[in-house]
Amino acid sequence: MQNHLVAALDIGGTKIAGALVDGAGRILVRAQRPTPAQEDGDTVMRAVGQVLGELTASPLWARAEAVGIGSAGPVDASLGTVSPVNIPGWRGYPLVERVRQLTGRLPVELIGDGVAITAAEHWQGAAQGYDNALCMVVSTGVGGGLVLGGKLHPGPTGNAGHIGHISVDLDGDPCPCGARGCVERIASGPNIARRALDGGWQPGADRDTSAAAVAAAARAGHPVALASFERAAQALAASIAATATLVEIEIAVIGGGVAKAGDVLFTPLRRALRDYATLSFVQNLTVTPAMTGTDAGLVGAAAAALGSGARVGAGASA
Ligand SMILES: [Zn+2]
Repeated sequence: MQNHLVAALDIGGTKIAGALVDGAGRILVRAQRPTPAQEDGDTVMRAVGQVLGELTASPLWARAEAVGIGSAGPVDASLGTVSPVNIPGWRGYPLVERVRQLTGRLPVELIGDGVAITAAEHWQGAAQGYDNALCMVVSTGVGGGLVLGGKLHPGPTGNAGHIGHISVDLDGDPCPCGARGCVERIASGPNIARRALDGGWQPGADRDTSAAAVAAAARAGHPVALASFERAAQALAASIAATATLVEIEIAVIGGGVAKAGDVLFTPLRRALRDYATLSFVQNLTVTPAMTGTDAGLVGAAAAALGSGARVGAGASA
């Protein structure tokens, strides 16, 4: 029996999701609100309160042992604050304290969304069974997280593994973060699409200019679309190779909308990895698509909560 039960929150720029999750990772109760991302901070918090209100109204709530929060970043787990780039009303916002006001006695664990997805992949997905893993989310942005020595490695502030803002092109384009040539500036969905459009690729009759449309064109052999994915793959490969060289990861798991391009991304990525991951101890690195789906943020937040108070794993029992 899986007697453990925790509450999980997944806070992003478009939705605030909540759930009660058991020790086997099953979602027993869920609640969701759109994120009023352009409103003031307290209005955003009211939406979080509504989600928590639905969870606390459940008869199962009495069994909840901890609250896990995965939030769009940056977060500061040491201070319990969040400053999500796409929620301007929250800057240094005391999210942990506010959640505690609504949930009372329970311990609250805060991690960044990239770390949350890493926790989910390590618990239930492609990184299961690996003690050293990098998990990446490549979508509108590029995020990530690390598992080191068998454990999630959130770092002191909960942002470790934020691979999207490693520079892989020293004199590259300026990135909104302030640096140049970041992985995200090259490999995110919008940047894949932008580069294809700049190179002369034109969308079809549906005017779809998303990275998915570029992927479809690449699959059909469009050279500019292929080149844009090739460039993104190079950036990802260089960053994965750097990570592997630094901390000896055994597997890199890639999820997010851009990873749905499948072979259009993974074939040039695995090829480029041979160019960048050259030392003997990184040559056997596995690169694989993520397995967890839209609930990954919730499952990962639950994993963090279970790790803090209760226990994670199929063998755990009360
Ligand atoms: Zn950057």
